[in-house]
Parts: sequence; structure tokens; C-alpha cells
Amino acid sequence: MMTCEKLKERGTVAIVGAGPAGTTLALLLHQRGFDVRVFERDASPDARPQGGSLDLRPDSGQRAIRAAGLADAFARRSRDDAKAFRMIGADGQEMPGEGQETHEDAGPEIDRGDLRAMLIEALPDGMVAWDHRIEGLDRHRDGRWLMRIAGQEPVVADLVIGADGSGSCVRAALTDVEPIYTGITMVAAYIRPELRRGSHLSDVLGEGSVMFAGGEKTIFVQRCARDVILLYYSMAVPQDWPRCAGFDLSDVDAVMRAVREAYCDWSPEVLDMLTEVDDHFQHWPTSAMPPDHRWDTRPGLTMLGDASHTMPPFTGKGVNLALLDALDLADALVAEPGQDVADAVAGFESSMQARTSEEIRACLKVGRNAYGIDLGDAA
Ligand SMILES: Cc1cc2nc3c(=O)[nH]c(=O)nc-3n(C[C@H](O)[C@H](O)[C@H](O)COP(=O)(O)OP(=O)(O)OC[C@H]3O[C@@H](n4cnc5c(N)ncnc54)[C@H](O)[C@@H]3O)c2cc1C
Repeated sequence: MMTCEKLKERGTVAIVGAGPAGTTLALLLHQRGFDVRVFERDASPDARPQGGSLDLRPDSGQRAIRAAGLADAFARRSRDDAKAFRMIGADGQEMPGEGQETHEDAGPEIDRGDLRAMLIEALPDGMVAWDHRIEGLDRHRDGRWLMRIAGQEPVVADLVIGADGSGSCVRAALTDVEPIYTGITMVAAYIRPELRRGSHLSDVLGEGSVMFAGGEKTIFVQRCARDVILLYYSMAVPQDWPRCAGFDLSDVDAVMRAVREAYCDWSPEVLDMLTEVDDHFQHWPTSAMPPDHRWDTRPGLTMLGDASHTMPPFTGKGVNLALLDALDLADALVAEPGQDVADAVAGFESSMQARTSEEIRACLKVGRNAYGIDLGDAA
């Protein structure tokens, strides 16, 4: 048995993934005196575009940020006026008051890349091992967990924490259950710089975000930092789209043909406004863990954030829950110093699972209403 005190004094903690959950947890544990290392597959903090803007809610995401001492840094990097949200129909008509239930406690928006930069800057140099992709976990002969790392020597740690997102490889050591595809793939597109300010869409958008909706389809538009406008088309396509349709995302004409086809019952004026985009796309097949999913706790190992409770972004809660998990786990490991680490982790897991099963259910309900998704018995 290893107590939380012993883990702090002589043990090592390995976090897999330098996303919002992993970096927040690393900072909180470092501040509490633990020896922490983060293993991230990206070659550097800006190796790939991080995507759009996220709102951090007062009682979850912001709570973790405050606990990490980053309230001022967050205030400097976030945008309060960007939390404004409206809905507009597929005919171009405003839908006053619609959709507010998912934005009732919305907080200031921060771009995903800025959030990552803020957290990485707060960590000691060298705490994140970039370009370290974990390939799998094995039990070491001394009972601890050994991480296999692509092209590197394996690493053994007293506590391994999977913060490696929806495609988590740590998860396989805890459960056979994988996220289920919802049937909705989100395609992100950016507006060309010359079309930003002064364009019709820019005027309609204002400073916040607008959900265009009609016929169980949406196009979500948000103004990000540095005046970038980001659109998310939500397409009901097979999980292996666009490969199954015979093209890839670099084929701009094919992607835009597919988008226009998916929204062919929308007003042409609205669709014209929403399809003048840059020629760079990202796609996210959205998926969800079954809400009641639980795993048997295993000594020396746990997971949090999307790795544990992947859900579609329909309620905008994923990052907030990931940050709250990080705070709860960091607190659990210092709550009672004489406590067994395994018990602290088991307590954390059961309260995280209880909280997130409610959130996944609420999210899938929004998905049913907005997109007609039906995961049957799984949800
Ligand atoms: C299109 C879209 C829009 C969204 N919008 C919102 C929103 O508005 N509000 C909101 O709250 N949430 C939103 N989310 C969800 C939110 O982004 C996630 O919930 C959040 O990023 C989860 O953080 P995480 O740290 O758990 O995982 P991630 O952000 O996925 O980070 C995981 C990290 O682990 C690394 N990694 C993965 N595998 C390995 C490996 N084998 N070895 C080493 N490193 C690895 C990855 O490179 C990544 O850096 C959205 C998600 C999507 C897809």
C-alpha cells in the first residue's frame, strides 16, 4: 500500500496528455508538492491547430483555474463579450430566447490554444515531455504501471493518469468500453481573413456565437480570438466519412459539395453566407461514453476528462468537466495524507462517474432534440 503522503514524498506521477485536463492536473499536483511528468504525443505546444473557443463556467472550469492561481491570467486571455449566444433559423429568422438552457451559466470564452499556452507557461520548464506518444500500459514486475512510449525507453510511475482524450490509450487498461459514435460528425472551417470584419456574416454574428438551426441540423458559428470566425457544420454521415465517400478533407470542392447537400433544405441566402470559408477543414466524429459506464478501480492507475467521459460538444461542458476532474483528483490526493492512494483514487472515480453520467445524459438529450441522434440502449 502507498499512502498519499508517501506518493508525495517519494513517488512519481505520470500524466498522459497535455490537454486541458492533463496540464491543469499537472499544475495543481506540482503546487501541492508532487513529482509530476506529463507525456504528450504532440511534438510541441503549437504542433497542430487547437480548434475554436471554449467558455469556462464559474463553478467548474473557472473554479479549477482559480485554484491553480490563474484567475488573472485567465481574465487577460479570455473574452467576456464573446459569451453572447443567439439562435437563427434556417430561413434566416431570429429565434429569440431559444437554446439558452445550454448557455445559462456560460462564462468568458478562451481559445483552446490560448488556454493551453496559459497552462503550459505556468508549468516548470521540462515538465511536459513533448513528442512522447504512449502506446500502451503493462504491469511492471514490481506491481507499478509501465508506459510503452513510441521510439523511447519505457517509463514506470507510481500513479499513471490518463488525460489523453476521447481516443485514450490508457482507458484500455481500465475498461473494454469505448465511446460510441453519435452519427454526427462536426466539420470545422475558418473564414478567410478578408471576409471577417465587414462581411454580412460578421455583422450577423456580432462578438459571440450564433447557432443556425433547422431540420435536425445546425451550423454553429463563433468569433474566436484575433477576429477569426470559426464554423462547425454538423453532418449526419458515417463515422469513416469522408473516406467512405471517396475523398479527403483536402478536396475543398468535395467537402463543400457535401456540406451544401447536407443543408439543401436551408434558405440559399443563409447557406451562401455560411459557406464562404477558408480551404482548411478539421473534422470531429462526435462520440459518447455510455452514461452509466463504470470501471473497477485499479491501483496506481486512473483517468479523467474526455478519456473517462467523452461526450459531444452539444452542451459545451466537456472542458469544464475535465478541469473540475483535475481539481477533484488533486484535492483527493491531499485530503487525508495517511490515506491509501488507491482509496483516494477510488473515491475520486466514483464521484466523477456520478457527476458525469448526469452530464452525458443531458448532452445526449440535447443531441436527440437538435439532431435526432439515438444511441438506443447505450444511452
Ligand atoms: C468540435 C468540438 C467542440 C467543442 N466545444 C466545446 C465547448 O464549447 N465547450 C466545452 O466545454 N467543451 C467543448 N469541447 C470538448 C472539449 O474540447 C473537451 O472536453 C476537452 O478538450 C477535454 O480535455 P482533455 O484534456 O480531457 O482531452 P483533450 O483535449 O482531448 O486532450 C488530450 C491530450 O492528450 C494527448 N494524447 C492523446 N493520446 C495520447 C497518447 N497516446 N500519448 C500521449 N498523448 C496523447 C492529445 O494530443 C491531447 O493533447 C469540444 C470538442 C469538440 C471536438
